[in-house]
Amino acid sequence: MQTAPEPLNVISTQGSTLHLADGTQLIDGIASWWTACHGYQHPHILQAIQQQLSTLSHVMMGGLMHPQASRLAQRLIDLMPGSLNHVVYSESGSVAVEIALKIALQYWQLQGEPQRQHFISLKNAYHGDTLFTMSLCDPDTGMHRLLQPCLPQHYCIPMPETPEQLSALKVWLHQHAHTIAGIVIEPLVQGAAGMQMQSPEQLKALCTLCRQYNLLIIMDEIFTGFYRTGTLLACDQAAIIPDLLCLSKALTGGTLPLAVTIASTDLYQAFLSDDPHKALMHGTTFTGNALACAAANASLDLFERGIGTRSYSTQVQHIETHFLKTFMPLASLPNVKAVRIKGAIAAIELLSMRADELQALQQRCREDNIWIRPIGHVFYTTPALTIEDTLLDQITSTMIKHIIPYASKSNDLNHPISSHQRTRHQTLGVHP
Ligand SMILES: *Cc1c(COP(=O)(O)O)cnc(C)c1O
Repeated sequence: MQTAPEPLNVISTQGSTLHLADGTQLIDGIASWWTACHGYQHPHILQAIQQQLSTLSHVMMGGLMHPQASRLAQRLIDLMPGSLNHVVYSESGSVAVEIALKIALQYWQLQGEPQRQHFISLKNAYHGDTLFTMSLCDPDTGMHRLLQPCLPQHYCIPMPETPEQLSALKVWLHQHAHTIAGIVIEPLVQGAAGMQMQSPEQLKALCTLCRQYNLLIIMDEIFTGFYRTGTLLACDQAAIIPDLLCLSKALTGGTLPLAVTIASTDLYQAFLSDDPHKALMHGTTFTGNALACAAANASLDLFERGIGTRSYSTQVQHIETHFLKTFMPLASLPNVKAVRIKGAIAAIELLSMRADELQALQQRCREDNIWIRPIGHVFYTTPALTIEDTLLDQITSTMIKHIIPYASKSNDLNHPISSHQRTRHQTLGVHP
């Protein structure tokens, strides 16, 4: 039986460093699931939380409001494309996706098309750990496989990559679109799946087709939001304006739990009615927590200020250039399936690795004071966007040093072909 290694005991964090109870300092290659985008303990965010703490920590959002929540909502709206003008708060990414799905289902009820009850998600998708979001995760490769029989059934499709696949999807939509409420997408990068990537062109083509069949477009930018892929939102790169958008992870700079679902004016207006039963019923207890909203406002200040003389998008480009230069040479090694790089995300997927080898590789990086945590056969880094060059260099050089012995193993099961040829072959198949 394989058990997970004992968790490391972290007693404090600073910048891109984790300080362990035994005195060790680890450079964090993951930024706590990419939340700590400005580095840990950023003084501006800490000060905002402390100041808020001294005046108002939390009030219920039923019939009450506070300045941090209204200011944050307005600032987010100002940053969003198109008419994404209405913000619903929640406490976690999973719940933000739940709210988006709930709005979509209720919208179709209100529009007199109650049979639109299903969603399309993409192969390898991850949208959260609550029951409904689990039903949108990939039923075969996702982490919630065991619970599949208990979940509502949706359609999990591969990203169409060729004109033929797009036409096949069109034929399928022609028959089924009237039962489908919307499509849920992690734009450009599917994080939890091991940094699987799509091109902006593929994304654009898929959304354009879905629009033709009136599907609502729901962008789950919980991973990609706030410059992780180089732009504020990943869907900006495909010039897509979704109907619903979810943000969380980096929203408070990795300090406090908070998420938002942002809806278009068209959707909002469909809910306006004198009948109270037609309102959106969602108001969990800690919705719009004031400390979390203060942290998020402070985080937005930092994005506005930039890092020294650089904007965040320039800084992410700088990180991307470093990743391309250092990691790309690994792509030609025999046991490497693919090297995927986008913005401040780099992933090296190995072809064959035993479980003990995966653990050993992580352990060797840790002995060199680098904290990484693979997803399956994928070794990745998503550092703080503010990481200093010397620390970034230590992360990449340490990863490369320890990956090379495994990456160089010739692999009898797989013919040594170039990594480009080895990308997944996808055919259009629809689940269930
Ligand atoms: C992390 C994540 C979620 C879930 O967010 P939680 O805050 O963990 O509930 C949903 N979608 C994507 C793309 C994520 O990366």
